[in-house]
Amino acid sequence: MSTFKAIVIEKNDGGQNVRLADFDEANLMDGDVTIRVEWSTVNYKDGLAITGKAPVVRRWPMIAGVDLAGTVESSSNPEWKPGDKVILNGWGLGETYLGAYAEKARVKGDWLVRLPQGMSTRDAMAIGTAGYTAMLAAIALERHGLQPTSGPLVVTGAAGGVGSVAVAVLTKLGFAVTASTGRPQEADYLKRLGAAEIIERKELTGQVRPLGKERWAGGVDTVGSITLANVLSMIRYRGAVAACGLAGGMDLPTTVAPFILRGVSLLGIDSVSRPRADREEAWRRLQSGLDRAKLAEMTTEIGLADVIEAARQIVEGQVRGRLVVRIARRRSDFSDKAAAI
Ligand code: NDP
Repeated sequence: MSTFKAIVIEKNDGGQNVRLADFDEANLMDGDVTIRVEWSTVNYKDGLAITGKAPVVRRWPMIAGVDLAGTVESSSNPEWKPGDKVILNGWGLGETYLGAYAEKARVKGDWLVRLPQGMSTRDAMAIGTAGYTAMLAAIALERHGLQPTSGPLVVTGAAGGVGSVAVAVLTKLGFAVTASTGRPQEADYLKRLGAAEIIERKELTGQVRPLGKERWAGGVDTVGSITLANVLSMIRYRGAVAACGLAGGMDLPTTVAPFILRGVSLLGIDSVSRPRADREEAWRRLQSGLDRAKLAEMTTEIGLADVIEAARQIVEGQVRGRLVVRIARRRSDFSDKAAAI
């Protein structure tokens, strides 16, 4: 029997049990590519899955983790060969399909994106689904026609993972960014990422008016609920908000006023089932459009055994920026050896 280490979620009478376990390779699911996982990350959804706070997991036992980067070990898919460096975000990993917090993963080759030239597998997971989603949101705002001359943008949940990357990416594109945070102590951090202005979360959690003062040309919202409703009421004529998160709630207590009186657009951002061409574009853009110094500033490295505690912290809004999870145990297992030292 050949086993590998994995974070396994099992169902029990009281709910679920999560532990670092030895997983039998024979129990991996069908797939045409086997990957030696080097790095993963902790996203908000991973927090929901591991704490059981939301019904993310649909199959038991489950290996948690929605994101991985690593090296192809074997493949019967003509597109991939042993030694290829790959990224996988979403596609049901850690939900319906055995996931990323494991030394090995067997997946469908169609789900994979090639690691951009010059990007390490560690950087790819420091970015992770959170960062890839932030780039999808930035691209959506650009496609809407927003440019730095259109006016400032707002990013909510700014000190979180999606928020931190969104601040860094949008400021690099030349936008003036207002960062909204519930953690004013992170103001200097957000300024180092490029934010021009910091506002307290509570400025966006008051009673929602159909229309407020026109403050921003657009925004990236990771919070949802009253926060998104307030943001919409303050968007300038013909602006747009890319909505990608629900950290504050799934509801949206808004009116049609911003849409029919100011022509505001609400752009929905999904990263999980995104077609491959969009994924490749986002990853290509992340290679050049996200300063590595800023990525390092927002990233904290943890080990596989630390993931369970990190999951609790992320759903409580205590994680700043991004967590990258070191999966490979031996230095020789890393394609990017310098990062493993
Ligand atoms: P993080 O926990 O890293 O960031 C979320 C941030 O939201 C927190 O850091 C905090 O920022 C803020 N926040 C947390 N709780 C509340 C609250 N109750 N009210 C208002 N603000 C709150 O998570 P991620 O960045 O990984 O994910 C952010 C959201 O985006 C999640 O809802 C996630 O599910 C979603 N997401 C969606 C994707 C998609 O495909 N659409 C892909 C990736 C993520 P601060 O302290 O600065 O206020």
